[in-house]
Amino acid sequence: MKILVVNAGSSSLKYQLFDMDTNEVLAKGLCERIGIDGIVSHKRPGKEDYKVNADFPDHKAAIECVLKLLTDAELGVIAGVEEISAVGHRFAHGGEKLKKSAVLGDQELEYLESIVGLNPLHGPPAISGFKACKEVMPNVKHVGVFDTSYYSDMEDYAYIYPIPYELYEQYQIRRYGFHGTSHRYVAAKAAEILGNKNAKIITCHLGNGSSITATVNGKAVDTSMGFTPQDGVPMGTRSGAIDPTVVTYIQKATGCTAEEADTILNKKSGLLGVSGVSSDCRDICDEAAKGNYRAQLALKILAHNIKKIIGSYVAEMNGVDALVFTAGIGENDRQIREDVCKDMSWLGVEIDETVNKTCPRGEIVDISAAGAKTKTFVIPTNEEYMIALDTQNLTK
Ligand code: ADP
Repeated sequence: MKILVVNAGSSSLKYQLFDMDTNEVLAKGLCERIGIDGIVSHKRPGKEDYKVNADFPDHKAAIECVLKLLTDAELGVIAGVEEISAVGHRFAHGGEKLKKSAVLGDQELEYLESIVGLNPLHGPPAISGFKACKEVMPNVKHVGVFDTSYYSDMEDYAYIYPIPYELYEQYQIRRYGFHGTSHRYVAAKAAEILGNKNAKIITCHLGNGSSITATVNGKAVDTSMGFTPQDGVPMGTRSGAIDPTVVTYIQKATGCTAEEADTILNKKSGLLGVSGVSSDCRDICDEAAKGNYRAQLALKILAHNIKKIIGSYVAEMNGVDALVFTAGIGENDRQIREDVCKDMSWLGVEIDETVNKTCPRGEIVDISAAGAKTKTFVIPTNEEYMIALDTQNLTK
């Protein structure tokens, strides 16, 4: 069974074609600059990458180009589009109703359109991407996989904010949580390694956007992102959790509008805001190594806040069996892992510094020190595979 996974952004469309019988990625790629001009990069394992300018007035043109590439005599990996059994679509937000991955019909689409206000950045392009794919591939089932759905079983006291309850009832203001597909994947892998389905696991997805999730018995019980992906740990350009009064104070003190305050907290804060160097952790690490105080401070704030959330989740779960690092920073930045895990032996977290330093990229590695009560793993995330798996399960 071959499944195409699509992740549509406002000007981009990522794709991966999976052969679910062999668990192989047959091809993957990225269409960029949709609505501007267009460029597509197409990769097949073991073969030369292909990159070419294209004309992408909209998502439909991009997906048509993807299908052409996938079936091309030279660059393709399948003989015809009919080999694709189903398409899985990534959606950041499934609102309160789409609690599980679902085959997308008219009702689901209508609901997704009704909640774009909750998700103005990712909702509209994901919907356009889905509509374009459906138009080009009308004869297969299309499945939506929602980042928020991993959190749909959280207790009400974990997702209701202590603000007037009517704001939840009227505007659905609550903690939704994001990156759920990534947390679900790495938490399941950790439970599999531990051989314990009921394990208490804390997963740290640290990338440009970062979030931490607590999982017990395969279900998320808490997560650091909230109503939007702005909450939780500091990120590339997002502040993460701060005293909410700072927002109104910035507005009063600087005379900026609500939108401008939002831009400050979403685009000019986090690692970029503190370091003044970059939103990219690699640049900040380089500057910190040269002695740049603000770059060093940004990294310390990041590790401090990750540690704080881990501690709170251990308290919530009454223990932890495994701590997992994933995504760009989590998988690659040894120093952050070391800084986060330092002085947590009381919680049973102890890492082997040599294994942590020499941990090969792209592999699952147990970086725990010998005899550590809590296991610490580096697990490369694979959201696309999770989407393909859900799509297979719902359509086969
Ligand atoms: P996104 O949230 O956009 O998917 P990624 O998961 O790709 O982001 O993570 C991007 C972050 O990972 C950037 O801050 C980048 O600097 C960091 N990163 C990637 N490789 C390394 C590395 N080798 N060392 C430190 N940080 C890295």
